[in-house]
Amino acid sequence: MSRIKFLNTEIDNVTMLEAINKIDEFVSKRKPSYVVTPNVDHIVKLEVDEEFKEVYREADLILTDGMPLIWISNFKSMPIKEKISGSDFFPEVCKLASEKGYKIFLLGAAEGVAAKAAENLKNKFEGLNIVGTYSPSYGFEDKQEEIEKIIDIITKSKPDILAVGLGAPKQEKFIHKFRDRLNIPVSLAIGASIDFEAGNIQRAPIFMQKCGLEWFYRLCKEPKRMFKRYLVDDLKIFKIALKYK
Ligand code: UDP
Repeated sequence: MSRIKFLNTEIDNVTMLEAINKIDEFVSKRKPSYVVTPNVDHIVKLEVDEEFKEVYREADLILTDGMPLIWISNFKSMPIKEKISGSDFFPEVCKLASEKGYKIFLLGAAEGVAAKAAENLKNKFEGLNIVGTYSPSYGFEDKQEEIEKIIDIITKSKPDILAVGLGAPKQEKFIHKFRDRLNIPVSLAIGASIDFEAGNIQRAPIFMQKCGLEWFYRLCKEPKRMFKRYLVDDLKIFKIALKYK
């Protein structure tokens, strides 16, 4: 696998097929592994968050989420092969799981949303075995009792793949901190994918995804929540793109 330096992280320069084969390999090896999908927002956060940086350094598979990062890679003459968003990767992982009989657990989104996503995914991928879902209460990360409960529910259902949609960097830090206790072959940090699969939030149309406007669609849909992310914080990407050779 070709791992390249890119801005303030490293990237596995792989195609979707190669990434899916990697997941298959991780499940076979059974050593706790995890996948992160850097987008512009993650790159901006990595500049100032040491713990997040450590999580990224130790990640087993690092994919590229979003056209702006692909453009920057082209601009720097080190083209990344393919944009692999968490929300595109997750259904492909479900497809693999349904074919191979791998068990999946969904953690995240608001009450009832993960269960709805599980129902939809089981309809989409015949034979998909979703062994459990749980939507933690907001602020769960500061409540030891809730964390213990989550770890207990997940480990008892013995998944091969854990999909965590709690927003970045919370989801990545959760996976990293508890990966040995959870002892699951593959964990994926998938952001809003559980919401998308539940049909709770609409994803941008394909043409917008392809021309790098997914962020604009999300901004229009949830202006209050996304304004700071996309129009204040993420503009720092220009400075970061110039900073790293
Ligand atoms: N979320 C959650 N618990 C939390 C914080 C966030 O379940 O404590 C969920 C939220 O409901 C949403 C997802 O995490 O489903 C975060 O989505 P976001 O838009 O931040 O993800 P992105 O895809 O942009 O990384």
